[in-house]
Amino acid sequence: MTNPNTFENRPDKQAKWDGRYIGLAHHIAQWSKDPRAKVGAVLVNQAYARIVATGFNGFPSNVEDSAERLENKARKLEMILHAEQNALLHAGRDARHCDVYVVGKPVCNVCATLLIQSGVRRVVAAAPRAGTESYWDKVGLLAIEMMREAGVEFVPISGAQLDAIGLNRDDARRAEDPFATHQAEFDFGVFGGSAG
Ligand SMILES: [Zn+2]
Repeated sequence: MTNPNTFENRPDKQAKWDGRYIGLAHHIAQWSKDPRAKVGAVLVNQAYARIVATGFNGFPSNVEDSAERLENKARKLEMILHAEQNALLHAGRDARHCDVYVVGKPVCNVCATLLIQSGVRRVVAAAPRAGTESYWDKVGLLAIEMMREAGVEFVPISGAQLDAIGLNRDDARRAEDPFATHQAEFDFGVFGGSAG
Protein backbone atom coordinates (compact mmCIF):
# COMPACT_ATOMS: atom_id res chain seq x y z
CA MET A 1 0.00 0.00 0.00
CA THR A 2 1.32 3.42 -0.89
CA ASN A 3 1.68 5.77 2.04
CA PRO A 4 -0.05 9.02 1.06
CA ASN A 5 2.54 11.05 2.98
CA THR A 6 5.69 9.84 1.24
CA PHE A 7 5.02 11.92 -1.90
CA GLU A 8 5.62 8.89 -4.07
CA ASN A 9 4.76 9.92 -7.63
CA ARG A 10 3.46 13.23 -6.29
CA PRO A 11 6.18 15.75 -7.14
CA ASP A 12 3.82 18.73 -6.86
CA LYS A 13 2.88 17.86 -3.30
CA GLN A 14 6.52 17.23 -2.43
CA ALA A 15 7.55 20.61 -3.90
CA LYS A 16 4.82 22.38 -1.94
CA TRP A 17 5.90 20.86 1.38
CA ASP A 18 9.60 21.27 0.59
CA GLY A 19 8.93 25.00 0.17
CA ARG A 20 7.05 25.16 3.46
CA TYR A 21 9.79 23.40 5.42
CA ILE A 22 12.50 25.56 3.78
CA GLY A 23 10.54 28.62 4.88
CA LEU A 24 10.23 27.21 8.40
CA ALA A 25 13.98 26.49 8.56
CA HIS A 26 14.65 30.07 7.49
CA HIS A 27 12.31 31.34 10.21
CA ILE A 28 14.00 29.23 12.89
CA ALA A 29 17.44 30.37 11.69
CA GLN A 30 16.54 33.90 12.81
CA TRP A 31 16.47 32.69 16.44
CA SER A 32 20.25 32.21 16.36
CA LYS A 33 22.29 34.76 18.28
CA ASP A 34 25.24 34.33 15.93
CA PRO A 35 25.73 37.82 14.47
CA ARG A 36 27.21 36.56 11.19
CA ALA A 37 25.61 33.24 10.31
CA LYS A 38 22.06 32.24 11.15
CA VAL A 39 21.23 28.65 10.25
CA GLY A 40 18.03 26.71 10.82
CA ALA A 41 17.30 22.99 10.48
CA VAL A 42 13.99 21.10 10.44
CA LEU A 43 13.83 17.32 10.74
CA VAL A 44 10.69 15.90 9.19
CA ASN A 45 9.34 12.38 9.14
CA GLN A 46 7.49 12.46 5.81
CA ALA A 47 5.82 9.09 6.35
CA TYR A 48 3.98 10.55 9.35
CA ALA A 49 3.87 14.12 7.96
CA ARG A 50 5.39 15.26 11.23
CA ILE A 51 8.06 17.72 12.30
CA VAL A 52 10.29 15.69 14.60
CA ALA A 53 12.71 18.39 15.75
CA THR A 54 14.13 21.79 14.88
CA GLY A 55 17.45 23.43 15.61
CA PHE A 56 19.50 26.56 15.06
CA ASN A 57 23.18 27.27 15.53
CA GLY A 58 24.25 28.29 19.02
CA PHE A 59 26.33 27.52 22.08
CA PRO A 60 25.40 24.56 24.30
CA SER A 61 22.76 25.16 26.98
CA ASN A 62 24.04 27.10 29.99
CA VAL A 63 27.19 28.16 28.15
CA GLU A 64 27.12 31.93 28.03
CA ASP A 65 26.68 33.32 24.53
CA SER A 66 28.29 36.64 25.29
CA ALA A 67 28.93 39.19 22.56
CA GLU A 68 32.64 38.84 23.22
CA ARG A 69 32.56 35.13 22.41
CA LEU A 70 30.20 35.53 19.47
CA GLU A 71 32.37 38.24 17.91
CA ASN A 72 35.54 36.16 18.14
CA LYS A 73 35.21 33.99 15.02
CA ALA A 74 37.81 31.37 15.86
CA ARG A 75 36.56 30.97 19.44
CA LYS A 76 32.93 30.90 18.32
CA LEU A 77 33.57 28.09 15.85
CA GLU A 78 35.17 26.05 18.62
CA MET A 79 32.12 26.41 20.87
CA ILE A 80 29.09 26.48 18.63
CA LEU A 81 26.69 23.66 17.80
CA HIS A 82 25.44 23.63 14.23
CA ALA A 83 21.70 23.76 13.54
CA GLU A 84 21.70 20.19 12.22
CA GLN A 85 23.50 18.95 15.35
CA ASN A 86 20.97 20.59 17.65
CA ALA A 87 18.06 19.13 15.69
CA LEU A 88 19.59 15.65 15.71
CA LEU A 89 20.25 15.79 19.45
CA HIS A 90 16.64 16.84 20.11
CA ALA A 91 15.31 14.11 17.83
CA GLY A 92 17.40 11.25 19.19
CA ARG A 93 16.46 7.96 17.59
CA ASP A 94 13.43 9.55 15.94
CA ALA A 95 15.79 11.10 13.37
CA ARG A 96 15.81 7.75 11.60
CA HIS A 97 14.20 7.92 8.11
CA CYS A 98 13.71 11.68 8.42
CA ASP A 99 14.34 14.36 5.82
CA VAL A 100 16.24 17.44 6.97
CA TYR A 101 15.85 21.00 5.66
CA VAL A 102 18.78 23.34 6.29
CA VAL A 103 18.76 27.06 5.49
CA GLY A 104 21.60 29.53 6.03
CA LYS A 105 24.65 27.48 5.06
CA PRO A 106 25.56 24.34 3.20
CA VAL A 107 25.76 21.17 5.29
CA CYS A 108 29.32 20.73 6.58
CA ASN A 109 31.39 17.54 6.70
CA VAL A 110 30.80 16.99 10.43
CA CYS A 111 27.04 17.41 10.15
CA ALA A 112 27.05 15.07 7.16
CA THR A 113 28.68 12.32 9.21
CA LEU A 114 26.06 12.79 11.96
CA LEU A 115 23.12 12.92 9.54
CA ILE A 116 24.29 9.74 7.80
CA GLN A 117 24.84 7.94 11.09
CA SER A 118 21.45 9.06 12.43
CA GLY A 119 19.67 7.42 9.51
CA VAL A 120 18.48 10.60 7.80
CA ARG A 121 17.47 9.69 4.24
CA ARG A 122 17.22 13.03 2.43
CA VAL A 123 18.93 16.40 2.84
CA VAL A 124 17.53 19.64 1.37
CA ALA A 125 20.08 22.45 1.67
CA ALA A 126 22.12 25.06 -0.16
CA ALA A 127 24.56 23.66 -2.70
CA PRO A 128 28.22 24.53 -2.16
CA ARG A 129 30.19 25.75 -5.15
CA ALA A 130 32.88 23.71 -6.84
CA GLY A 131 36.35 25.11 -7.48
CA THR A 132 36.46 27.92 -4.91
CA GLU A 133 38.85 28.52 -2.02
CA SER A 134 35.93 28.95 0.37
CA TYR A 135 36.14 26.78 3.48
CA TRP A 136 32.37 26.18 3.56
CA ASP A 137 32.34 25.24 -0.11
CA LYS A 138 35.13 22.72 0.42
CA VAL A 139 33.63 21.01 3.45
CA GLY A 140 30.21 21.24 1.80
CA LEU A 141 31.46 19.31 -1.22
CA LEU A 142 33.02 16.69 1.04
CA ALA A 143 29.69 16.43 2.87
CA ILE A 144 27.89 15.76 -0.39
CA GLU A 145 30.48 13.19 -1.46
CA MET A 146 29.91 11.29 1.80
CA MET A 147 26.12 11.58 1.66
CA ARG A 148 26.01 10.27 -1.91
CA GLU A 149 28.27 7.36 -1.03
CA ALA A 150 26.07 6.52 1.96
CA GLY A 151 22.88 6.65 -0.10
CA VAL A 152 21.53 9.84 1.46
CA GLU A 153 19.73 11.90 -1.15
CA PHE A 154 20.94 15.51 -1.49
CA VAL A 155 18.51 18.06 -2.92
CA PRO A 156 19.88 21.59 -3.51
CA ILE A 157 17.60 24.49 -2.67
CA SER A 158 16.82 26.34 -5.89
CA GLY A 159 16.63 30.06 -6.46
CA ALA A 160 13.02 29.59 -7.52
CA GLN A 161 12.19 27.97 -4.18
CA LEU A 162 13.65 30.97 -2.36
CA ASP A 163 11.66 33.32 -4.56
CA ALA A 164 8.49 31.38 -3.83
CA ILE A 165 8.84 31.90 -0.08
CA GLY A 166 9.91 35.51 -0.45
CA LEU A 167 13.56 35.08 0.55
CA ASN A 168 16.24 37.35 -0.83
CA ARG A 169 18.52 35.20 -2.98
CA ASP A 170 21.64 37.18 -2.18
CA ASP A 171 21.01 37.00 1.56
CA ALA A 172 20.35 33.30 1.32
CA ARG A 173 23.49 32.68 -0.68
CA ARG A 174 25.77 34.58 1.64
CA ALA A 175 27.74 32.53 4.09
CA GLU A 176 30.35 33.16 6.67
CA ASP A 177 33.77 31.86 5.66
CA PRO A 178 36.50 32.00 8.31
CA PHE A 179 39.22 31.61 5.67
CA ALA A 180 38.08 34.22 3.20
CA THR A 181 37.93 37.98 3.42
CA HIS A 182 34.76 38.14 1.39
CA GLN A 183 31.37 36.54 1.80
CA ALA A 184 30.93 33.39 -0.24
CA GLU A 185 28.03 32.96 -2.57
CA PHE A 186 26.34 29.73 -3.46
CA ASP A 187 25.61 28.52 -6.91
CA PHE A 188 22.18 26.99 -6.80
CA GLY A 189 22.59 25.22 -10.12
CA VAL A 190 25.68 23.09 -9.57
CA PHE A 191 23.92 19.95 -8.44
CA GLY A 192 21.14 19.87 -10.95
CA GLY A 193 18.52 21.74 -8.98
CA SER A 194 16.42 24.15 -10.93
CA ALA A 195 18.63 27.22 -11.11
CA GLY A 196 16.82 30.41 -11.77
ZN1 LIG B 1 27.65 21.57 10.25
